[in-house]
Amino acid sequence: MSENNGMKKIKNLKVNTLTKSEIEEIVTNDVYKKEICGDKVGRVRYRVNTIGKINRNGRSYCDNGISAGVTYWHTHTYNNPFWPSLEDIKRCSNYKTIEMIFSSMGIWKIKFDSSKLRSSIPVQTKDIDDCWKIFHNKLDKMFCGGTFEPQELFNVIYDFKKQIRKMGYRLTFEPFGNLKEFKTSFNKLWK
Ligand SMILES: [Zn+2]
Repeated sequence: MSENNGMKKIKNLKVNTLTKSEIEEIVTNDVYKKEICGDKVGRVRYRVNTIGKINRNGRSYCDNGISAGVTYWHTHTYNNPFWPSLEDIKRCSNYKTIEMIFSSMGIWKIKFDSSKLRSSIPVQTKDIDDCWKIFHNKLDKMFCGGTFEPQELFNVIYDFKKQIRKMGYRLTFEPFGNLKEFKTSFNKLWK
């Protein structure tokens, strides 16, 4: 990886687009605490739309667009949950967007394709809510507890992926190569 290109660009605010590896540098760097969001342009460029807006509760947030078919991306900062929020998932079904989330652990990609559903019965909102809650609680417990094996993490992700697939969601997780290194540093930082 090039030496801190992503961080350099963000710090100087000379930002128009970033590459995947530049965003990886940013999200795996614990000094960078602002959420960044944008949309994907072409195959390899990630356009930056907003950087680090803070809401009334002091939480970092993004206000990405909602045009159907567009791939939007945003970051989850180092000291926040690295998995998709329920809102992140529902954006795909509500607006037919493709969502990419760059987190300290890896990259999530979610899309919704109801055409491949076997049943014509619409998916109940409650189903995805319940499913996500279980997924969230498992990961939250795992990371707050301070014990974490990569395999354990992958099992939880796989279960969730399988469950929501039945509802039309396609989820992928591309872990960063140094996932194991996070075992120690992440535990220290988590809550
Ligand atoms: Zn998110």
